[in-house]
Amino acid sequence: MAGDAAEDDRAGASFAARLAHAWRVLSGANTNGNSTAVSAAARPAAQLHPQTALIEALIDSLHEAAIVLDREGRVVAFNDDAVSIAPALRHGEPALISLRTPELVEAIRRAGKRREPQRVEFFERVPTDRWLEAFVTPVEPPGERVGDLVLLTFNDLTPLRRVEEMRADFIANASHELRTPLAALLGFIETLQGPAKNDVAAREKFLGIMQAQATRMARLIDDLLSLSRIELNAHLQPGTPVELAPIVRQVVDGLMTLARDRGVDINVAASPESLVVLADRDELIRALENLVENALKYGAAGKRVDITLARGQTRAGAPEARITVRDFGPGIAPEHLPRLTERFYRVDVSDSRAQGGTGLGLALVKHVLNRHGGRLSIESTLGAGAGFTMHLPLSSGDIPKTE
Ligand code: ADP
Repeated sequence: MAGDAAEDDRAGASFAARLAHAWRVLSGANTNGNSTAVSAAARPAAQLHPQTALIEALIDSLHEAAIVLDREGRVVAFNDDAVSIAPALRHGEPALISLRTPELVEAIRRAGKRREPQRVEFFERVPTDRWLEAFVTPVEPPGERVGDLVLLTFNDLTPLRRVEEMRADFIANASHELRTPLAALLGFIETLQGPAKNDVAAREKFLGIMQAQATRMARLIDDLLSLSRIELNAHLQPGTPVELAPIVRQVVDGLMTLARDRGVDINVAASPESLVVLADRDELIRALENLVENALKYGAAGKRVDITLARGQTRAGAPEARITVRDFGPGIAPEHLPRLTERFYRVDVSDSRAQGGTGLGLALVKHVLNRHGGRLSIESTLGAGAGFTMHLPLSSGDIPKTE
């Protein structure tokens, strides 16, 4: 019987199975297994609340950390998740020894005094930084055998807090990015209305700058909207078969003027075999455009950009298409590589701004590839250029050529 319970534990026991086990413990059946409930029951009886095994079997089935105290504040029972919150928990000992957070201690005291559930949020630094939410609920079991109890359950709010922080950072960044060109525009408008009112040469110059700033704002809004659209559709895998070679050609054709302006040669080496992926064609074009544009902007000093399209294999051995954009410019220092795809992250902000960058390009590429079940890999050596590779799962089966 105890073996059954242990197996249940391993298999992520159902609540019903745990209840049955608890009942066996209560009814005095032989349970020498190694579930938490049984090991608790095996401890010296003097320290234990009479219903420890039952309570522990019940809270063990919760999907959150839980601790039960008696009315004197001694630990009656706790589940495995609770140990990660309070490693010093011991049956029969005062909870104050293991739960030292003042907010929590105060909530337990209030719950005991007012006999009302309490909710409290607190921050812990040990073992790691995290935000927790605790519900402290007084429980009055019927009958006299058990006595009043206090149930503590915990939720980890850290992921939620991180998302909130990211959202706040994102809004701050986006506003800042928009405010800078906006301030420039307002400044030039004032100058044109005032001191430079009749200065034709200054007017021409300022209008040129204003146009560049307005274009930057438009591009930023465009990128922000694209990002949010891609994120909204993140759960929908694109289903249209798309041949990749024509996409590479189209992107290169579209950026020829920029390449000429920068004095850069673009070389394309595409595998002769047809490489087809299930994709949103426009999104792939946008992503590849970003990579080639970056290579032309930041890697122009290398005078050459190589684009290759080839078949490869994922780490798991599945067939994939790889589009690599390699430049021979200044490259990127290794400490920046892991952060390049973060929104608004730039190695050199003024360089990016001077190039008309928004800091959103690589974030967009990453999101597009995620949505396609692929990924972006980046390799770079300082002084020796950078290579950005789009990995896309190849579509299997006989898919008619559509592009
Ligand atoms: P941006 O709009 O600033 O170009 P991206 O997200 O496309 O934003 O790129 C982020 C940063 O990565 C750029 O600001 C630049 O510092 C760096 N970067 C991107 N591509 C290259 C490259 N080919 N060579 C050197 N640095 C690059």
